[in-house]
Amino acid sequence: MQNPSKYIRPCIRALEPYSTARDDFKGGIDISIWVDANENPYPTGVNRYPDPHQRRLKEAIAKLKGVKPENIFIGGAGSDEAIDLTYRIFCEPRVDNAIAIAPSYGVYQVAAAVNDVELRAVALRPDYSLPVEELLGAADEYTKLMWLCSPNNPTANAFPHEQILELARRFDGMVVVDEAYVDFSTEGSLLPHLASYPNLIILQTFSKAWGMASLRVGMAFSAPEISEIYARVKYPYNLNGPTQEEVIRRLHTDIRPMVNEIISERLRMERELPGLPCVVKVYPSDANFLLVKVTDADNLYDYLLSHGVIVRNRSRVKGCESTLRFTIGTPEENTRILSLLKDYPNNDKTSSSAT
Ligand SMILES: *Cc1c(COP(=O)(O)O)cnc(C)c1O
Repeated sequence: MQNPSKYIRPCIRALEPYSTARDDFKGGIDISIWVDANENPYPTGVNRYPDPHQRRLKEAIAKLKGVKPENIFIGGAGSDEAIDLTYRIFCEPRVDNAIAIAPSYGVYQVAAAVNDVELRAVALRPDYSLPVEELLGAADEYTKLMWLCSPNNPTANAFPHEQILELARRFDGMVVVDEAYVDFSTEGSLLPHLASYPNLIILQTFSKAWGMASLRVGMAFSAPEISEIYARVKYPYNLNGPTQEEVIRRLHTDIRPMVNEIISERLRMERELPGLPCVVKVYPSDANFLLVKVTDADNLYDYLLSHGVIVRNRSRVKGCESTLRFTIGTPEENTRILSLLKDYPNNDKTSSSAT
């Protein structure tokens, strides 16, 4: 198995190990006066810098996920921060490149452009399955990253673990698997394979199943050599103190009932949507949303909007023609959506092709 350190950019490998004012103090003595970090001494509630290593939060996440704190990077701008840092760690601008499946999450492309890194898009098969040989074939000696999103946004399907692990074995670079929707999937997480695949990076987030999108907390799990590099590259105080506390507090709640209800509502929508005249096809989903092929996406989008319902129009995304993406809402919201769709005036399936 490859040593992942060799994929790191030379300028990043040469970075000094990360240290802040407070790291000079090794503990062991009871300090009553903190005048080392130029903080305001008056207790405003937020006058002290937060723990840059996020130790307590990492302990809590490690316990929850069955990994070690040394495997964890936590981003304070969600997974998006981890995506950006991953380019900065591994890809030399204008030299190295990355591969991603298409269609997939737009941030892989945006972050590639911001970092001046070429992103090679490899189309999923028409049934949205993984084109394993094409992905490997798109790589050259400058390819450092392969982005896989499973369950994939916007296609909603999860890829078989064995295919992803085969890619990790055969690809000479880092395989990054974005598991933002893993809590809704029967395929489960690849985290148990982290120790045997040093070139694997797994992204997760608290924005979806955990219901903390507003807090902006995302994670990258990787081999300790790689996590340590994320720690050097990140802004020292990238996760503010109140957020660290709030996430620790919320990790004690049991999200399973909420997640199960979302999944059972998804199953209800998967059953009921295909019977509606404006629906052509509902794609299989392992996530908290459904990609739905409809008769006339743009008109249907406007119709729903005019009734106060906003969905994601994916019809201009290559490979997702004529589709709308529906996040699963509460049972009442889903019932309302189904009834609006049933009442859609242009409800004749043949109308769009006949005219
Ligand atoms: C929603 C989503 C995320 C989460 O992003 P955050 O920045 O953590 O909120 C990550 N990846 C994918 C594919 C997503 O759809």
